[in-house]
Amino acid sequence: MPELPEVETVRRGLAPVMESFTFVRVLLNRPNLRFPFGDDFIDRVQGQKLVRLSRRAKFMIAELGSGDRLFMHLGMSGRFTIDRDFRPGEFANDHSTNVKHDHVIFEMSSGHRVTYNDPRRFGFMELIKPGAPSRLDNLGPEPMSNQLSAPVLRASLKGKKNKIKTALLDQRIIAGLGNIYVCEALYRARISPKRAAGRLTVAETETLTGHIKNVIRDAIEAGGSSLKDFANTDGNLGYFQHRFDVYDREDEPCKVCDAPIHRIVQTGRSTFYCKACQG
Ligand SMILES: [Zn+2]
Repeated sequence: MPELPEVETVRRGLAPVMESFTFVRVLLNRPNLRFPFGDDFIDRVQGQKLVRLSRRAKFMIAELGSGDRLFMHLGMSGRFTIDRDFRPGEFANDHSTNVKHDHVIFEMSSGHRVTYNDPRRFGFMELIKPGAPSRLDNLGPEPMSNQLSAPVLRASLKGKKNKIKTALLDQRIIAGLGNIYVCEALYRARISPKRAAGRLTVAETETLTGHIKNVIRDAIEAGGSSLKDFANTDGNLGYFQHRFDVYDREDEPCKVCDAPIHRIVQTGRSTFYCKACQG
């Protein structure tokens, strides 16, 4: 499942062919993804200039000349491909092996076709009118931004009796932090995922804040390297392979102390940690 760094990588891949260009043609292959597109989707996007392509948490946000914002969420399996060599108005995608999951096509004035493919259809696209309330309204600070600091995190966690692992997944506390990077940050900070969120010390909160920023930054940098290769390959903005220090490494040796990595389930999600290092 794409997390914040993957979404940021996709945004950086799409920006050069979409940002400041116009949607020449919009094609929908079906009426809905996770949610319906709405009857006016094509009318509101086609012919509009994409003024800015930004990201908030795991949402890409295309700001349109009309003032509408187009939210794009990749869900579990959403991906974009970019190609230049295409027949206008047609879905068929030469390099895609599963054309039937190509749900949306944007033909841009840059001369590129941008295709959204999503076999599981947990992703969605949603148009928000200027000034209208949206899913972004209650999100906490971006992990990489100055809005997230140790004092801010400490204030957010104050009095919280749930586990720190669970608290960090709360999007009102930090926006866009998902299961993988919460496990990685706690491991780097050597803090047990089972600790009560409100009981972290000042020093622990500082260490944790630093590692949250580091794991996200490292993953975005890894994604950036993958984009360099992408330019020379098939135009598929897929997900790069990460090597995680603790996530998905059950029973493998801890990279610090060699003890086996444990997996437990917290609020329905797998947590990976080292009992010795994060005791
Ligand atoms: Zn260890």
